[in-house]
Amino acid sequence: MTDCIFCKIVAKELPADIVYEDEQIIAFRDVKPVAPVHILVIPKRHIESLQTTDSTDDQLLGALMGVARQVAKEQNLAGYRVATNIGKEGGQVVKHLHLHVIGGRPLSDLPALG
Ligand code: 5GP
Ligand code: ZN
Repeated sequence: MTDCIFCKIVAKELPADIVYEDEQIIAFRDVKPVAPVHILVIPKRHIESLQTTDSTDDQLLGALMGVARQVAKEQNLAGYRVATNIGKEGGQVVKHLHLHVIGGRPLSDLPALG
């Protein structure tokens, strides 16, 4: 998608602090972190949100969770949160599916994302 910032990061047309990349997934640091570690894990293919996936995407969805687990391990997080916002009411601003991996401080005081 040409007007999608995350597609531009995938295409390396926009800079990002990339921490993981494979054929189908890329992970990079959030530009406005809400905690010491705030990484976004996204599919390279443009998918609007979890709500626009179906059962044919289950392998990819599982792989996204696996990358979230791996980057959290690499960041030595004792505990962390994985979250995805869906739709405007769900607080989603960037309409390209992404998992937030957030940690590095106690999160009990973090009410919501976005
Ligand atoms: P959402 O509210 O859609 O779930 O979260 C979008 C996230 O993307 C926000 O946390 C925001 O800070 C982050 N973000 C928006 N634009 C950029 C960008 O150009 N680069 C990076 N690295 N993160 C971005
Ligand atoms: Zn996109």
